[in-house]
Amino acid sequence: MLWFIMAKNAGKRNFIAYNRSNNWVFVTCYDATATPKETFTEEYCRRLIDQSLGKKIPYNVLSITTWNTTPRVARHYRSKLIRHGFVVGDAAHCFPSTGGLGVNTGLGDAHNLVWKITAVENGWAEDRLLDSYELERIPIAVENSRQSRLNEKKVHELSRAAFGDNGQSLEERMQDPKARSEIQLALMDNYNHFDSLDLQIGYVYGKARSPHRRAGHYIPECIPGTRLPHAWVYTADGRTISTLDVTDYSAFTILLSGSLQRDNRRPLDDVSFPAKEVYLGKDIIDKDGAWTRLMGLERASSAVVIRPDQHVLGRVTTIDELQNLVNSFVLCSSYVPDHEKLCGTDLQILAE
Ligand SMILES: Cc1cc2nc3c(=O)[nH]c(=O)nc-3n(C[C@H](O)[C@H](O)[C@H](O)COP(=O)(O)OP(=O)(O)OC[C@H]3O[C@@H](n4cnc5c(N)ncnc54)[C@H](O)[C@@H]3O)c2cc1C
Repeated sequence: MLWFIMAKNAGKRNFIAYNRSNNWVFVTCYDATATPKETFTEEYCRRLIDQSLGKKIPYNVLSITTWNTTPRVARHYRSKLIRHGFVVGDAAHCFPSTGGLGVNTGLGDAHNLVWKITAVENGWAEDRLLDSYELERIPIAVENSRQSRLNEKKVHELSRAAFGDNGQSLEERMQDPKARSEIQLALMDNYNHFDSLDLQIGYVYGKARSPHRRAGHYIPECIPGTRLPHAWVYTADGRTISTLDVTDYSAFTILLSGSLQRDNRRPLDDVSFPAKEVYLGKDIIDKDGAWTRLMGLERASSAVVIRPDQHVLGRVTTIDELQNLVNSFVLCSSYVPDHEKLCGTDLQILAE
């Protein structure tokens, strides 16, 4: 839960409730040339907090810290020297906290990396699969840092609209129809600060994000690289579950409505990687069929292959095709996304 505190001459301040009953954060922006970080003693911080609350209430100060909001993304997520060394989360990227994209970006890194490590350790993937971790995840961090930076700028613009350039109060500005409409426009312009679902779950591995795609406009789809679309479905014994929960975190999940053609009578357990079959209509029941159509599974002849991190790998019709598709990824014979193209022109924000 987040509160923006805006008051004349107070700069940008927030209260963040990590836990509303007992764990809060107070954030303020500062100009290090006017107030060096040594200024932020407990007494000084208490004064800012009390002023922002508008009254004195009892609280303990647990810690005081400063940081800067310059977006940074590491040029590599895999160490060139220690080949089994990887960075995830804020060690790999950090952005302004505006937009709250930090944690999900870090979790997405771990989600992408852990199954690849398991695959290599268990011998069903080549070490080179681990190189795909940074190829897939760096473009996401670049995009999220871009949006976080934009959100930061938009909050400053809102603050400027709220108080004008002549030191007016918000109340005075709200009486002026022109200023009021400026404030309303600036508020609407902050929309994607609070609604960025498409950045959170709509990214497509191996495909550059369209500049026309809005941060909050998530459209579920089933193409290679997308996250498996969620829908509520039923199990054979009538329980409601998410389609995300039918996948196996340590195996490829094969979603199918008929059976794969067993060319040369080859069984699924003959493939060289762990796999789990999930049959529509038997293991899961999609009552209105909308998800089945979205997945292109209404015809019995094809199956959709889901990676252990719940991203779509592709579509197959035979066991041999399935083996070839997984091989092309885990043995890295064909997966070479264009790194520079995926990150766009903002590659300069990457740091060594
Ligand atoms: C004020 C603020 C508000 C934020 N709000 C949001 C939000 O609303 N939503 C959101 O998604 N993100 C938010 N973020 C960002 C989010 O906090 C970070 O993205 C996230 O915590 C990163 O997680 P992490 O595990 O990668 O790193 P960290 O949380 O930094 O964890 C790293 C850990 O490693 C420990 N460590 C460091 N060095 C060593 C060492 N040598 N040996 C052992 N341990 C070590 C550190 O002590 C720390 O515990 C916010 C950040 C700030 C500062």
